[in-house]
Amino acid sequence: MELLKQRIVKDGTLREGNVIKVDSFLNHQIDIDLLNEIGKEFKARFASEKIDKILTIEASGIAIAVIAAQHFRVPVVFAKKTDSKNLDENTYESSVYSYTKDKTYTIRVSKRYLNEGENILIIDDFLANGKAAEGLIDIIDKAKCNTVGVGIVIEKGFQKGGDKIRKQGIKLESLAIVESINNGEIVFR
Ligand code: 5GP
Repeated sequence: MELLKQRIVKDGTLREGNVIKVDSFLNHQIDIDLLNEIGKEFKARFASEKIDKILTIEASGIAIAVIAAQHFRVPVVFAKKTDSKNLDENTYESSVYSYTKDKTYTIRVSKRYLNEGENILIIDDFLANGKAAEGLIDIIDKAKCNTVGVGIVIEKGFQKGGDKIRKQGIKLESLAIVESINNGEIVFR
């Protein structure tokens, strides 16, 4: 998606450990016009699929999933990273290791919001080693739902997540794939 790549080049910055910071437009301050274009693009790429719900993970995935869902006209469910008294006791759970935070946490989705046989599209901001996506797929499997596909805004193609998901035969659509970072310059696939 050309508009997105241009924006990453213009406003993205790089941090230690090949972390790409895009929080001026994607996951802290949010450019809603860009997000709307991202939502339209996801809809176009998954137009042929039957989708009942979009599943994402808090916090960064929520805004992206919600704007995309306006084009799909389906509910959004997000996995919670923190336990709370508000959360149902009956939850599907999975463990996710976060590369950016260097810690493992449990993600949870109430059993009430994933019903057996539903077709689920996963949407998230980044795909790096694929741990967040794997955790969401695990929850979808536990709920006996179907993973229709994975939509990612920025895939870090030099990390293993994309290959792992494609090898499972899951349709993965990444709107920008960063092939490498060379001397502070982002190179797209
Ligand atoms: P994975 O689980 O695929 O290794 O990493 C995906 C998650 O880690 C995303 O949900 C995202 O929040 C975070 N992440 C991974 N790499 C980056 C990055 O380069 N920049 C930012 N901002 N987040 C990242």
